Amino acid sequence: MVKRLVIETETCLKSGQCAFMQPTIFGLEADGSPRILVEKPDGDQIYAVDDAISMCPSQSISLRPLE
Ligand code: SF4
Repeated sequence: MVKRLVIETETCLKSGQCAFMQPTIFGLEADGSPRILVEKPDGDQIYAVDDAISMCPSQSISLRPLE
């Protein structure tokens, strides 16, 4: 099932870890906010997203079913 990558801006700490660890999936805005580069990851990108989900210090990253 295709899922959508979501970052909760309310809880994100702007640590930049996701962009540092998985730069093909996440970028960084000038103010340090993460930017999603791949909105609907698939294949090996899912592993990269799972890694980012597991190391995000505020549990702000998730994969959600498309509505
Ligand atoms: S790792 Fe989590 S808290 Fe840090 S910038 Fe990414 S989404 Fe925000």
